[in-house]
Amino acid sequence: MLYFIFTIDGDWKEYFNIGLPEEKRLPDKQRMLSLIDREIGLATKILGGKFIHFIHTSPRARDFFLQPEFIGKWREIEGRGGDVGVHCHADDPGRAYYHNDPGKMEEMIGFFTGALEENNLSPVAFRGGYMSFSPATIPVLEENGIFLDFSCDPGRYLLHDGRPVSDWRGAPDNFYRMSYEDHRRPGDSRVFEIPLGIYIETESLWKIWKKARQFKRRKGETVLSVLAHSYDFSSFKMRLKIKLALLILKRFGRFISAEESLRIASGGQG
Ligand SMILES: [Zn+2]
Repeated sequence: MLYFIFTIDGDWKEYFNIGLPEEKRLPDKQRMLSLIDREIGLATKILGGKFIHFIHTSPRARDFFLQPEFIGKWREIEGRGGDVGVHCHADDPGRAYYHNDPGKMEEMIGFFTGALEENNLSPVAFRGGYMSFSPATIPVLEENGIFLDFSCDPGRYLLHDGRPVSDWRGAPDNFYRMSYEDHRRPGDSRVFEIPLGIYIETESLWKIWKKARQFKRRKGETVLSVLAHSYDFSSFKMRLKIKLALLILKRFGRFISAEESLRIASGGQG
């Protein structure tokens, strides 16, 4: 059986543009709110509300998405059958990367999950910025009650100016319980990895169809994530592509919630 989880990373384009002046790299509140509305609209229409919005947090925009207007959107997502996750950009793109620093990760994840929970939200999943991850983050996730990670893009090895930012070489291409020693290997931690299956922006609809057909042929249960970004929703063309991609994928697999994925990954005992 093939299952997908639709995930949207709550990033805006200017965050990544290191050539812009500092004030232009910050998110725009009204623009982000309307993009999130479009995400909710599309996910409600196509997937009955099931998706995970990964809320961006970074040194640049630490608590920006904890403002009351955004908290209202996260409640709406949960209310419609979706979930929120924590998307830690523990980075200053092109300059510094903190994903290997357990102290920094503990501070970031603890602060953000705590703030969401204080607002009666239930963050259920984690994804590192640039799909970064360090095994030292596993106990931090456990302590904060997050048992799903979506940072794995099997085979990915991303360097910025020679510095490794994301390393998923040799990682399984299906869900697994992560090892405390090596995030790319199955082990006995309490955190389950749901790897990336489809990256909508970078793959043609034809390729998405072919990949879905291959996933469908696998034996046993397969759970994979499908990725888009908030900034995609500003473009009509990209919204259409996301919609078509989801409709294609629905023909091959079933879209599930974070909770359902945790139940499947943990062998039905959830
Ligand atoms: Zn991101």
